[in-house]
Amino acid sequence: MFSSRFCGLNPYVPGEQPSDREYIKLNANENPYPPSPAVEKEIREFHAASLRLYPDPDSSDLRESIAEMLGNGITTDMVFAGNGSDEILSFIFYAFFDSNRPVVFPEHTYSFYPVYAGYYKIPVKKIPLLADFSIDLEKTAEADSSGIIFPNPNAPTGIIIPREKLRDFLQECGKKAPDRAVVIDEAYIDFGGETALPLLKDFPNLIIVRTFSKSFCFAGARLGFAVSSPENIRALCTVKNSFNHFPVDRLTQRMGIAACSDAAYYRRICGEIAATRDSFASELEKTGWQVLPSKANFLFVRKEGLAGKQIYETAKKEGFLLRLFNTKGLEDFIRISIGLPKDMQALLECLKKL
Ligand SMILES: *Cc1c(COP(=O)(O)O)cnc(C)c1O
Repeated sequence: MFSSRFCGLNPYVPGEQPSDREYIKLNANENPYPPSPAVEKEIREFHAASLRLYPDPDSSDLRESIAEMLGNGITTDMVFAGNGSDEILSFIFYAFFDSNRPVVFPEHTYSFYPVYAGYYKIPVKKIPLLADFSIDLEKTAEADSSGIIFPNPNAPTGIIIPREKLRDFLQECGKKAPDRAVVIDEAYIDFGGETALPLLKDFPNLIIVRTFSKSFCFAGARLGFAVSSPENIRALCTVKNSFNHFPVDRLTQRMGIAACSDAAYYRRICGEIAATRDSFASELEKTGWQVLPSKANFLFVRKEGLAGKQIYETAKKEGFLLRLFNTKGLEDFIRISIGLPKDMQALLECLKKL
């Protein structure tokens, strides 16, 4: 009954959402703050009757708002909007990575990438991280491939690559294979990192992917976007229109436009999250924990003598959901999303007992 294609699938598993009790949820990098009041207003004033009509298939007004918010010379035809960045990543794998040459990404990275590669039967080459857990850019640029993808900051480490290093990396990639797509997934860039947007004008093979889920408090609404050359954006539209004409619904398009109009609100809450992260990290370090240097809204931590599972289970008993990675080489780490200051204080007390 099932196709052989289907039988080969190996799906992504998101952070758990148990309902046996109330938890402080620090396992999916969700934002602890609500969306901007401008978004709430948009929802209140939305005309339910308009739902009988299909949305704008191209999300034109939304893309214009995103382009305006981004600045850096970005125009509407350089922006693609999708149903969360996960959907856009899927379109990117389909449009830019070949099935006869590998896609290259770090050994430890966003665990959806190998899932898409499996879905489209694209071979994978994983590059081990360096000793300090940062991405090995030299080996990444050298490897033979039809394309490269990694998050910046990387997940689950939180480690950022500065823009000027990325420029050198893109130059190296260009020398080796100028027509190869380089995809930078900036899901966490708003928490203190330097965006690669200014590099787009020099590198037409660069594709930047962003999500509203984390920094814009929209995980439940599903909205993401990609920024690249108009030619690459047209390619993504072709894939979209071969799959689902209307990935972004009417209400989400309106909410996205409202969110873009209140960038100041998001700068403020992302700043607060970054400050909570940094003080939580230094408190943990004082009690003997190792904390990787993070520019994201999460920390990747471990403590000598403790297994990740032990940390995860102790925290869960006390009502905190953290993210455990059952991946070789990461067994003793735990990923902690940054929540409200009071929740992080309570978690700190819990972890100190370990
Ligand atoms: C959360 C995340 C995404 C997915 O974002 P959605 O827009 O919610 O689909 C993509 N890439 C990375 C690295 C992420 O952490």
